[in-house]
Amino acid sequence: MAEEHSGTTNLHNYRVARGERVRRAFAALSKRCPGCSSLIPYEKRRYDHCSQSCATTAYQRSNPQPTKRSACGFCGEPCSRPGNIYCSTRCTGLASAAKTSKTLETAMATTGVLVGSVNVVKRFLLKQRGHSCSICGLSRWNFMGNDVLIPLVLDHENGNSDDWRVKNLRLVCGICDMLLPTYKGKNRGHGRFSRRQRYTDGKSH
Ligand SMILES: [Zn+2]
Ligand SMILES: [Zn+2]
Ligand SMILES: [Zn+2]
Repeated sequence: MAEEHSGTTNLHNYRVARGERVRRAFAALSKRCPGCSSLIPYEKRRYDHCSQSCATTAYQRSNPQPTKRSACGFCGEPCSRPGNIYCSTRCTGLASAAKTSKTLETAMATTGVLVGSVNVVKRFLLKQRGHSCSICGLSRWNFMGNDVLIPLVLDHENGNSDDWRVKNLRLVCGICDMLLPTYKGKNRGHGRFSRRQRYTDGKSH
């Protein structure tokens, strides 16, 4: 029993001595805060700065916030806040659309396949070819006494909706679309993959 007690005391003494050594070694370093040059206490020996506020000041100094308002990356007007790239959400959108359009232009000139969502590709083709039906040529329509732009749909000429080659794509008006041999049910077996799969499985819709 006595031996065990003395063993515990020895271990305790050893730990205290080791703690003292580490403390003395740290004190010998006289580690100072680069912000306010005060000595860093032993408890904060793992930190570079004496306090959160000194650390924050140092961080802000090395990562300065932009102070100048730059010109909008799209329209060139000055941005409302420093650090902004575009002056408005409108310009952000237009810049993104311009980038998409550039990508599609490149695709058209190289692979000839337009990759993108239906709306994006449709908008691109409208810009390229103008707003008119590529079959009947109509661009406007009298709707209930109003002269309106004729609604156009994106049509895959060969009926294969997975075929996005630019020469297979056209914009057609609703009437022409309905008269096409590839319209809805008439396109049986050539439409979307999921639909083709359903027909193969013997379903009628
Ligand atoms: Zn400090
Ligand atoms: Zn702008
Ligand atoms: Zn038409």
